[in-house]
Amino acid sequence: MSFLKPRFQKSALESTEDFRTALGNWFAVTGKDYPWRRTKEPYAILVSEMMLQQTRIATVLGRGFYARFLEKFPDVESLAKAGDEELLKAWEGLGYYRRARMLRDTAKVVIERHGGCFPDDEAMLMDLPGIGPYTCAALLAFAFGKSSSLVDGNVSRVLSRLMDDTEAIDSTPTIKRHREWAGTLCDPADPARHHHAMMELGQTICSNGVPDCVSCPVASFCKTSSPQDLPVKKPRAKTTETTEHAVWSKDKKGRVLLHHETGSRRTGLWKLPLRSAIQCAGLTKISETIYHITRYKVSLNVYLWDTDGLESGDEWITLERLDTLPMATPFRKVLDRLLADF
Ligand code: SF4
Repeated sequence: MSFLKPRFQKSALESTEDFRTALGNWFAVTGKDYPWRRTKEPYAILVSEMMLQQTRIATVLGRGFYARFLEKFPDVESLAKAGDEELLKAWEGLGYYRRARMLRDTAKVVIERHGGCFPDDEAMLMDLPGIGPYTCAALLAFAFGKSSSLVDGNVSRVLSRLMDDTEAIDSTPTIKRHREWAGTLCDPADPARHHHAMMELGQTICSNGVPDCVSCPVASFCKTSSPQDLPVKKPRAKTTETTEHAVWSKDKKGRVLLHHETGSRRTGLWKLPLRSAIQCAGLTKISETIYHITRYKVSLNVYLWDTDGLESGDEWITLERLDTLPMATPFRKVLDRLLADF
């Protein structure tokens, strides 16, 4: 990586054809081959976009989430019919389980309103549950070959640097401005290739921190002289520390006490039952883990529990059933460890 940056020569917005050509030529040689880039099937593209919203490509592909999910739910019909447990199980390990439910809601509405076929119209797509401006732009370009204004975090970083935009990247006016720029730059001859190239430029060369400007195919269009300082972001919300007190209990039949969640963002998932700090006072602590979720840093403490006081949602689960239940990753990891030890 290098700070060295070729001199700015012409604005991308004023020389759109030259910019598209430089970017497209680079992508034709270096573009990566992902399964969602080989399809024009809107459903398969939507699944990939939903998964990639909060999860890295390496995880989605390397750990086989994408292929497994499509094997289990190959089309909107199969997904629309999925029960909570099988849906969340197929999503297990990806986190942010709301995405899985949203995907199912989208599938149901596509069937109800559009006979199972995704519309290729921006307003109709935006009217589907879970489809925001980014996903809509992705479907328009990748599935239907239509020009669109696609801006994700990578594209926004590239645009900030190309245009030397020093406004906060996550402010409403900047989001709007970047969409306009992305729409202007989009290559109508091949919108999908153009957006993939912009995203890949941000993932590889114009990355966070110090970009590799000497290798950049569009360096002569880039206005900033201090790329390492861009993009500017609003200050992050402070991390809040919190503690969860969970209990570990096995009965005489070897069943484990678990809790089925309702009324929270993890509705439908299973976890070790939580108790209050007072209920756990004096109990033997057998595990201590830290995990992060949104802006929370959670200390998950687990205690040996030998009382039989079950609370609403608690259930004794056989070891055979344990593996089939959907569970958030922090609890799955602790549970696997405890099963090995107790
Ligand atoms: S677009 Fe990014 S990588 Fe390319 S020259 Fe500008 S800052 Fe460097």
